[in-house]
Order: sequence, then C-alpha cells, then structure tokens
Amino acid sequence: MLNMNKLSLLIKKEEINAEINKYANKLNEKYENKELSIIAILNGSLFLFSDLLKKLKFPIKIDTITVSSYSGVKSSNELLYHKKIVKPIIKNQDVLIVEDIIDTGKTMNSVYEYVNSLNPKSLNVLVLASKKDTPTKFKYKYDSLFTIPDKYIVGYGFGIDDLYRQLENIYTIESNEE
Ligand code: 5GP
Repeated sequence: MLNMNKLSLLIKKEEINAEINKYANKLNEKYENKELSIIAILNGSLFLFSDLLKKLKFPIKIDTITVSSYSGVKSSNELLYHKKIVKPIIKNQDVLIVEDIIDTGKTMNSVYEYVNSLNPKSLNVLVLASKKDTPTKFKYKYDSLFTIPDKYIVGYGFGIDDLYRQLENIYTIESNEE
C-alpha cells in the first residue's frame, strides 16, 4: 500500500481538470484549422499530456523526450537524454512542449534549446506548475497552469523516487528530514 500519511492535499483533480479545460479551449481557438506538434517530457508530464490531448479538436502530432538529471559519479549537474525526438514533426511546424514543472529551469532551458535547434515554425511551453518563490532561470516565455509554494509535490504524474505518480490529486510531501 502507498503511505498516504506524509501527504497533504494541495490541488484537487477537479481543479486540475478545470485548468486543463481552459487551456485546451485556448488552444482550440488558436489552432482552429491548423496543426500542432506536441512534445511531452517524460515521465512527469504523462497525465497532463494525456488529459490535454483528449480535449483538443484540431489535428495534432505527438512525440516524447525522456530526460533526467544525471547523478552519476562524474557529474551530478548534467542532464541525461534517454530518448530524443524520433519523428520529423518539428521542422517548420508549430510546436508545444508539455512539461510537469519548472523549478530552477535547467531542464527546460536544455530541452527548449534542443527542440529549437530542430527549426520549428513556432515554439511554446506549457507546464503544469511553477514554484512561486523559486527564481527560475528559464530564459523563455511559458504558460503555467498553477503557481505553487516552494514545496516538493507528488501525484498526477509527479513522483518521488518514482513513487506516488498514480495519484489523481496533487499533494505536498513531508521531507525525510522533518
Ligand atoms: P529544474 O531543472 O527546473 O530544476 O527541475 C525540473 C525537474 O525537477 C522537473 O521536471 C521535475 O522532474 C523535478 N521537480 C522539480 N520540482 C519538483 C517537485 O516539487 N516534485 C517533483 N515530483 N518533481 C520536481
């Protein structure tokens, strides 16, 4: 069984659904009679990606990028790309990157520059959450569905040691030091 004792409810699934609906409506207006390539950054954005796609009414194409912070012996600060884009759906296309959260902005800076190097016609970024007291160093404009306190969150695709991702709501989790 999952240990729910350390969790406090932060965002209910109904609130998440309402924000995704609003954003999907904006995209439905903006891309009416157009096409959009949507790139998910895995694993964290799985739920947002899936829920958003189901609400879109215009043609879309999808691919995924899997990236993580490399915590090997040599460098704990480097990003490791486990999977990059494999489909030719970026060049001269309108592209939206979907990410779970921007914290320091390091991951998104790297992914943005990688996708941008494939020459999209336009490039936008959607994140589920950003942390209000963290000065992000992400260098580009982005849309964020929720602004949250500077706490570690789990659920709705967010994991800790890869656990808790399957929860439908978003929770803050007590750190082990507390
Ligand atoms: P950044 O490169 O912006 O510092 O970190 C982004 C990545 O760190 C996210 O893609 C996410 O995987 C992880 N991350 C940052 N804050 C949280 C959090 O509160 N909860 C979880 N589960 N992951 C987080």
